[in-house]
Amino acid sequence: MPNENENKCADKNLDRRRFLKSAAVGAAGLALSSCSSSSFQAFFQDHFREMDKDELLSTLKRMEEEYSKKYGKKFTVSAEAPIDETLFGYGLDISRCIGCRRCVYACVEENNQSRDPQIHWISVLRFKKGDKWMDLENSTKYYDPEKVPEDGYFYVPIACQQCENPPCTKVCPVQATWKEPDGIVVVDYNWCIGCRYCMAACPYGARHFNLTDPGLPAEEVNPKTHYLGNRPRPRGVVEKCTFCIQRTRKGLYPACSEICPMGARKFGNILDPESEIRYLIDKKRVFRLKEDLNTLPKFYYFI
Ligand code: SF4
Ligand code: SF4
Repeated sequence: MPNENENKCADKNLDRRRFLKSAAVGAAGLALSSCSSSSFQAFFQDHFREMDKDELLSTLKRMEEEYSKKYGKKFTVSAEAPIDETLFGYGLDISRCIGCRRCVYACVEENNQSRDPQIHWISVLRFKKGDKWMDLENSTKYYDPEKVPEDGYFYVPIACQQCENPPCTKVCPVQATWKEPDGIVVVDYNWCIGCRYCMAACPYGARHFNLTDPGLPAEEVNPKTHYLGNRPRPRGVVEKCTFCIQRTRKGLYPACSEICPMGARKFGNILDPESEIRYLIDKKRVFRLKEDLNTLPKFYYFI
């Protein structure tokens, strides 16, 4: 009778974990044998969606200890679950946006994005008045935010559109990215192998790759994190906006909507007929980017 390991090796449909267990243990086992027990446990942890309660709790605790030690601050890593009967949606009033980019920097701070090299999950695109703004190629993100608003221009902030039909999740060969029941598209950074297929599939340029170790100064780090959101990322994984999952699943607004001085950003539960976002969708003339692709964004622009 073949033992369990031999059965796994015989399985033609090797998933990532099995692949790591079988192929990599042989090749990388020697290297790992010199790693800390924390790295060793991280290497063998299950996919987020496959962890049982005990494994999840011990994984969160291990991460909290690791990050607290690394950054010299007490970290919390939550795994706050989606709220029942909730589908998050975002609204952006283009006529109010002045292109100041405060949302960009609030997002960087809240979500622990790399300062050097810079990673920005939000881009603010500038268009000439009269140009078709649905045509993103007509825009630039290189303008001086000190001089806004500029005569003859308007601004369109863009980030992950949290598509209801996301092309990025379908191409991931190891299911490291998926859509949650509240509509947020997430990434398990421990599971991502950095192949970047999802970046190629995203029509909005919303995914970002950590080519090198993220430059995240200890004094600037935000220690309140979520496993699927703003916890520190390693080199070689893809990351993206999660509608501030660590805040919004606790009933708070995303950092970008809270900071906006013009009140241009609206957020809420699309399924709640009394919500502001639902009012906007029902009553205003709303647009979604690249609607023809059938990605069904939950990010609504209105004027
Ligand atoms: S903070 Fe508000 S006004 Fe400023 S760029 Fe962002 S959305 Fe526009
Ligand atoms: S880079 Fe994207 S497609 Fe590749 S493993 Fe990571 S999440 Fe999946």
